[in-house]
Amino acid sequence: MTIVSEKILSLKDNELLEKTKKLVAVEKAQTLEVLAHLQEISRRRLFCDLGYSSLFEYTHRELGYSEAESWARVSAIQLIIQVPGAKKSLSDGEISLTNLAKAASSITRQEKSLSEKLSQEQKEEVLTAVTRKSTREAELSLKEIELKKLSEKGITPPAAVVNIQKIKVSDQVVKKILQLKTIKGNFSDSELIEQLIDQELKKIEEEKKLKTSLVCTKESPPVQANDKKNNRYIPKSVKEFVRNRANNRCEFVDPISGRRCMEVHNLQYDHQKIPFSLGGQSTIDNIFLKCRNHNSRGAIVFFGLEKMDPFLNHQH
Ligand SMILES: [Zn+2]
Repeated sequence: MTIVSEKILSLKDNELLEKTKKLVAVEKAQTLEVLAHLQEISRRRLFCDLGYSSLFEYTHRELGYSEAESWARVSAIQLIIQVPGAKKSLSDGEISLTNLAKAASSITRQEKSLSEKLSQEQKEEVLTAVTRKSTREAELSLKEIELKKLSEKGITPPAAVVNIQKIKVSDQVVKKILQLKTIKGNFSDSELIEQLIDQELKKIEEEKKLKTSLVCTKESPPVQANDKKNNRYIPKSVKEFVRNRANNRCEFVDPISGRRCMEVHNLQYDHQKIPFSLGGQSTIDNIFLKCRNHNSRGAIVFFGLEKMDPFLNHQH
């Protein structure tokens, strides 16, 4: 079976080469356009309205990208936000989506091991390391940069940076990794473990940011815990009831599709119907268990994107 149409068969050699080049340019432009739309969906947390807990889940389940493709797109967006040059490199074809995603992971990894944010210059250095490189070459360049940084700071590199094979894991873990690979597909062991760690680190980081933002806006000023009439203290009995009702899972349900959010981590008690700042009470009718993103989306819908943007969408 061929996918070559009569029209393609009729092209002369030079026409076929020219046409292919043009099509690739269109494809690259469209990729960038898709990323731009995804970035805005992420800023507004619009995926929440459809019952998804993250942009990654939305791109995978709603848009039909594979897990690896979704991961590359979500990570690439992160890097484009952080390093302005990334967008141009991608549109010029100097850097692949996969390499952009690897650079984004490397920046997260370095910031974690160095316990400090990378400067703009350092981030650009990471980007340069994956520009005009094959995936394998990019991986080696990134490892070199990471080892150099750690050595400059006098930090002993984690075994995983030097050689992933030095990590000892139980048979049970190996079994689970194999199981996950069957579901997720085309990832190396290292990439898979890195993804899981990145997801967790990101959740913790964003959880911290959200807490800060809510203290600054929705739930300020802080009140005394014993002020029963107007305080954000949620009685233990209410918390227990809500957790049981929710079965320890985000309670958001898309009213149209009936899809309920799958998130079970970092859940928060949300004054859903009437926000705390408007006198919403801490009762079982008003308190709902929500994931981080659904809590954020609730705040955006209620207070407006403009007001919540600085708290929820930190630009690096
Ligand atoms: Zn949720």
